Amino acid sequence: MSHLHTHQGAEGTGYAQPSPLASAETLNIPDGLRRQRLPALPRLSEPEVVRHYTWLSTRNFGIDTGFYPLGSCTMKHNPRVNEVIAQLPGIADIHPLQPESHLQGLLCIFYEMQEMLATCSGMDAVTLQPVAGAQGEFTAIRCIQEYHRMIGQDGRTKVIVPDSAHGTNPASAAMAGYEIVEIPSAEDGRLDLEALRTAVGDDTAAMMITNPNTLGIFEPDIAEASQIVHDAGGQMYYDGANFNAILGKTSPGLMGFDAVHYNLHKTFAQPHGGGGPGSGPIGVKKHLVDFLPGPIAKRVPLRKDEPETEVSDAWRYHWWRPSKSIGKVQQWHGNAGAIIRSWAFYRRYGNELETMTEHAVLNANYLRHRITSEAESQGVADSFNDGAPADVVKHEFTLSLAPLKEAKGVGAMDVAKGLLDHGYMAPTVYFPLVVPECVMVEPTETESKEVLDAFAANFVKVLQEDAETLHAAPKSTPVGRVDEVHAARNLWLKHDTEQEE
Ligand SMILES: *Cc1c(COP(=O)(O)O)cnc(C)c1O
Repeated sequence: MSHLHTHQGAEGTGYAQPSPLASAETLNIPDGLRRQRLPALPRLSEPEVVRHYTWLSTRNFGIDTGFYPLGSCTMKHNPRVNEVIAQLPGIADIHPLQPESHLQGLLCIFYEMQEMLATCSGMDAVTLQPVAGAQGEFTAIRCIQEYHRMIGQDGRTKVIVPDSAHGTNPASAAMAGYEIVEIPSAEDGRLDLEALRTAVGDDTAAMMITNPNTLGIFEPDIAEASQIVHDAGGQMYYDGANFNAILGKTSPGLMGFDAVHYNLHKTFAQPHGGGGPGSGPIGVKKHLVDFLPGPIAKRVPLRKDEPETEVSDAWRYHWWRPSKSIGKVQQWHGNAGAIIRSWAFYRRYGNELETMTEHAVLNANYLRHRITSEAESQGVADSFNDGAPADVVKHEFTLSLAPLKEAKGVGAMDVAKGLLDHGYMAPTVYFPLVVPECVMVEPTETESKEVLDAFAANFVKVLQEDAETLHAAPKSTPVGRVDEVHAARNLWLKHDTEQEE
């Protein structure tokens, strides 16, 4: 290392440069802002750093290493061609402050994405600003709130959610200042229209619901539910996390919704979870358009005297900011990379988008039947079986392990941990809350019959393992059973060991 000069300036270390390249400049940082001591970062060479991160990557489980049946979160394969497109220099190397004339390509992509999302959801306008489903929920609920204020209806203080709702629904509404009214599901896991009729009133601002619901069951009475809420003067909000079940088949617009969010990282293409950031655009009906956060991509016909642009001889694209906007919810133009990957994904499907939906639904139903036909004797109850028409679910399904828990003290968590030892990512557990000892599985559209058969066989094997083994699982993973309660209550995110208690 003698030929290397380890740079020990005020900004700390962690890298080394040959001395001729090191800057001789003294940094002009006021004393009060300088660190008094170096941060406790490990001082390592490049090969050591590379080996460390490569080793870490082999301890991780991802959709690229195995089957990832996480219900509700739609962990789908993200085609690599989208990465190639997102990294094209004309896309990756532009700056958001460049003039519109430089950004015609990006504006065109954003415009097309807005139009495609509006079309598939039956909405009138879309903003690509929010960067998560939850942020989309909050943004749309704020638009609804401003709309009510504008028409003199600010006495509407309550938002209705079914008891099977994702936690972000009541959380988003509460953040906007609303009181939450929870309504119970009916016996068959569906929306209870009587409970809804009782809950609505002139204080109802909105109802938030996903369809198919979080049990993977389609709500056939959704149009009637929309009618009930609208008659009371409320707005209908569609949680789009389950779009994989209906795209190209039906739309929230047809069901009577006023606003929706799309989780591009679930339904379209953007690696998520540990794999990357999300994108949660929202779509709204006409009466809510003025409140959307901008900028939104628009286009106008080229005038006769205007030269054609890089991307079109008919249109010029520009940014538009709605007049009564609730304000920005994200810097710049939203999460551009996620939007571009999802645009590429959508363009490749085109009018055949419904084949994606069909395969997702077929896979879920096939796997559900494989598991339930083999596992019923093992203590697995097919939750809400009786209520589902023709015994069909949409893109995901829930099972209750309550009988197994009763019989041998093995719950959903134990089975999920047991599956890790068989080389699978755990399914979602204990959600939705209305199913006791719930296991929720969503295979997505890209898995083969072989993968689904093998998973079903391994699922049944896990159910047959003895309680002792399952309580101790997982044994084969780098980290064994973790104490989630301790981790959540005593969150410790600092790398600086000196600050450890
Ligand atoms: C994932 C999810 C959300 C929230 O979306 P994020 O993008 O994770 O913020 C909302 N509702 C349902 C049903 C979901 O599955």
